[in-house]
Amino acid sequence: MKNIVSQEVKSMLFEKRKIILQSTKDGMKTMRSGEVREILGPGFDEGDMAVITQIENMQSTLFGNQAYLIKSIDEALKRLNDGTYHICEACDNEIGEERLRAVPFTRHCRNCQEHYETLRRMATPSRHVL
Ligand SMILES: [Zn+2]
Repeated sequence: MKNIVSQEVKSMLFEKRKIILQSTKDGMKTMRSGEVREILGPGFDEGDMAVITQIENMQSTLFGNQAYLIKSIDEALKRLNDGTYHICEACDNEIGEERLRAVPFTRHCRNCQEHYETLRRMATPSRHVL
């Protein structure tokens, strides 16, 4: 490992993991859709139903993102142990230190990441008009 101190990265990743887990728990406590249904009572109409659906979608997107982040962090920790932390998974080139500091759980170098993001943008139609 070059200039990146792996211990420093590890504790940073653990810290991030803790924060994400905590916010997931908080989110579950405060934003359960069941509670929203209760507040609205049994007589909710179509408009209320749309709100509930929206909250549920937001929740699953949020938790999906958080689960993905946790997974990425776990994988980064594993790569730190394996000594492959700074190697791009796609092209075997070294991931720049600047990029690792900005996105400590990244698996790809800047080039590959940009490549994947372009592919993803093409694969998933945007919900917003650009
Ligand atoms: Zn790469």
